[in-house]
Formats: sequence, C-alpha cells, structure tokens
Amino acid sequence: MKKLIAGNWKMNGTESGAVSLISDIAAGLEKNKALLQRCDFLVCPPATHIYVVKRRIDHGHVPVETGGQDCAATENGAFTGDISAAMLKDMGCGYVILGHSERRTLHKESSALVKEKAGRANAHGLITIICVGETLSEREAGKEFDVVGRHLAESLPSGAGAGNTVIAYEPVWAIGTGMNATPADVKAMHAFIRERLKENVADSANMRILYGGSVKPENASSLFEVENVDGALIGGASLKAEQYLGIAEAA
Ligand code: PEP
Repeated sequence: MKKLIAGNWKMNGTESGAVSLISDIAAGLEKNKALLQRCDFLVCPPATHIYVVKRRIDHGHVPVETGGQDCAATENGAFTGDISAAMLKDMGCGYVILGHSERRTLHKESSALVKEKAGRANAHGLITIICVGETLSEREAGKEFDVVGRHLAESLPSGAGAGNTVIAYEPVWAIGTGMNATPADVKAMHAFIRERLKENVADSANMRILYGGSVKPENASSLFEVENVDGALIGGASLKAEQYLGIAEAA
C-alpha cells in the first residue's frame, strides 16, 4: 500500500502563502517523480484557502489531493460559521480530517459527533481521516489502549471501510510538542488498532492507519518502517514544502 502523506495546515497562512506552499510542493514533486510511486499526497489547508490551492493544483496538474480540516454534522442550512461536507466536496476536496484532538479538546467534540460528521462526509463521497489518541495523563495512567479503543468504537460510522476511511493515531502529547512516540509505542498501538478494526470493518487489512505527532524528515523513516504505519498526518512540518517532501522521501 502506498503511504499517505497528509499535511494538516491548521489555521495558518495567507492566501498567497498557501499558493506559494502548494507551488513549492508541486515543484518538488516535479523534480522527484519517484515519490509518486511510493506515496499519495494530500494537503488540508484552512477552509478559506482550499479554493486557491485546488485551483493551483488543477491548473498545474499537480498530483496532490485536497481535504478539509473539519465539517459539519448536518446538511446545508442555518448553521452560522459551519462548513458542510457537501461544500467541501463541491470545492473538489477528496478528504476531511475529523476528530482531531484540537477539536476534541478545544471544541469539546465527542466521538458521537465525530461519527455523525463522518457518516455525513462519507455520504457525500469524502474519505474521512478519523483521529484517535490518548493524552499524556491517560498514557501515564496506562489507559492508552482503552482510550483509543473507545475512540475507534464510538467514532466510526456504519459503512466505514478502507475505501472511505483512514485512521490517524495521534498521541495528543506528541502533537506540536517535538516529542514523538517511540517506534515500539507506535508498533503496539497500530497493531492494536488493526486488530480492533477487524472486529467491525470487512476490509480492515486495507484501511490505512497513519501516525501523527511531531513527524519530521529526521524521524520519519524509523516510523515508516513500523508495521501497520501507512503514512503520516503532519502538522508543523507540512507548512514547509522541503520538510513535507522530506518526510515522503523517508517512505
Ligand atoms: C497534527 O496536528 O495533526 C500534528 C500531528 O501536528 P504536528 O506534526 O505539528 O505534531
């Protein structure tokens, strides 16, 4: 399976900065086409920048998909400030990230809400990247498998399969901190996730499981070597084309 190199640009940058970033990624891929044999590429810009990024991708035939960072659990209507799955699809997105720990924590999103959003996103033909992961205190209390098991059981909608769902294991304590889980921690958790998926997903062996949390070009190869690591969800390092592509080079 090709590795999915997914960039989560979060709430960063300007429109012109977003166009420069995707242009730099395009130029890097043009120079190193071999990367396309080993990796699929996805960027998730802020919602306000998706359109210009997508336009640059389409005009330049850049082999990169776009995704949203969240979507509403409802169809279009009177929901001020929200963005629907239908709107993301209409803009040309193929993916949407759901249940990122920043949304679970800062916006108090429950797994039940993530599941509703995921069902809606799948219904509109979007592939969801469903984030799961424990906090530091949960890990210190030895509860990481319980927490991740619960996130998986409660966040996946019926009909989730390898064709419409990607799991991202993101230990919360490793996001944006420079700390990352050891390959042994990642191996144990990804194996656990694969086993859990077997219980409810028919084609679970083909469902991608990404690792996320301070992934950089320097640590990517040791993470990508781990069994069941099918790519990376990358925050900070995805804001620099050189680092984003450096991670792909490690694959
Ligand atoms: C993320 O936000 O999904 C993430 C993994 O961030 P970072 O790579 O900066 O830790």
